[in-house]
Amino acid sequence: MTASPARRVLLAAPRGYCAGVDRAVIAVEQALEQYGAPVYVRHEIVHNKYVVRTLEKKGAIFVEETSEVPPGEICVFSAHGVAPEVHEEAARGQLATIDATCPLVTKVHKEAVRYAKEDYDILLIGHEGHEEVIGTSGEAPEHITLVDGPDDVENVEVRDPERVVWLSQTTLSVDETMETVDALKGRYPDLISPPTDDICYATQNRQTAIKKVAAESDLVLVVGSQNSSNSVRLVETALSHGAKAGHLVDGAEEIDPAWLEGVTTVGVSSGASVPEVLVDGVLDWLEQHGWADVEIVQPVEERMQFSLPKELRRDLRAEAAAASGSD
Ligand code: SF4
Repeated sequence: MTASPARRVLLAAPRGYCAGVDRAVIAVEQALEQYGAPVYVRHEIVHNKYVVRTLEKKGAIFVEETSEVPPGEICVFSAHGVAPEVHEEAARGQLATIDATCPLVTKVHKEAVRYAKEDYDILLIGHEGHEEVIGTSGEAPEHITLVDGPDDVENVEVRDPERVVWLSQTTLSVDETMETVDALKGRYPDLISPPTDDICYATQNRQTAIKKVAAESDLVLVVGSQNSSNSVRLVETALSHGAKAGHLVDGAEEIDPAWLEGVTTVGVSSGASVPEVLVDGVLDWLEQHGWADVEIVQPVEERMQFSLPKELRRDLRAEAAAASGSD
């Protein structure tokens, strides 16, 4: 009789919170502590239901538009970034804003402004309707055309094929983006690439780790919400790199035991907006169902950190100065 293969979990690293999400969540928590509730937040601060609900319990109020925020109140802008007109609208509404846009998204905004000033047509590779794409497009609407994947390339029209540059959303699949770039270069051989890749380090690292895990997994579970672009891309990447099945779950309660039938190795990862407590819940669930052996697969190290938004740093400094003055 041959022994059945040992059940195991391959846990991808890095996974979960990236530096931009960490900063945005801390910004809301810090604002609540510094100014008291309520603190308004335009859009989901990060695309994760658990994070949003936890912040709501602490006194954050999530709104769709700045026009919903009463005059004079504090409004935090999410990690995905906003268009200049949103800043203008907030100023008209006399809001005190805290901009938690990820610095890596800001970098793409600046690139868009620079190329628009130089009168390039900018082909922005990204997903239609995603908040980050809306924010970046708002920097130079008359210069930016959205390209939503390789199949969209044939629809692109530019003014001058010799003055075209591509930029991208930060949370795309690295492989699919390069496919889109290749297709664009087929049409526009003079297409310029941005000075550095726009797909952020966290997206790339999580995709690198999931590829390694997927190659040995029968099933991959990615913890993340459906509206989280980088989480959805992780499932796609796992499926295209060897995983026999893959699912996106918000937490352990969404795992269907039927998915585990005939499975020996389960790969686990989480999107950049997912707190580790949700991954722990999935690991506990797997342990209870016979997958107790967890092996970490870490092809890359990650140490990035961003400082808090400048508005919070300024007020923290002022508070500290006032406190030391009253000593
Ligand atoms: Fe910033 Fe990347 Fe995180 Fe988006 S995924 S918030 S770009 S670090």
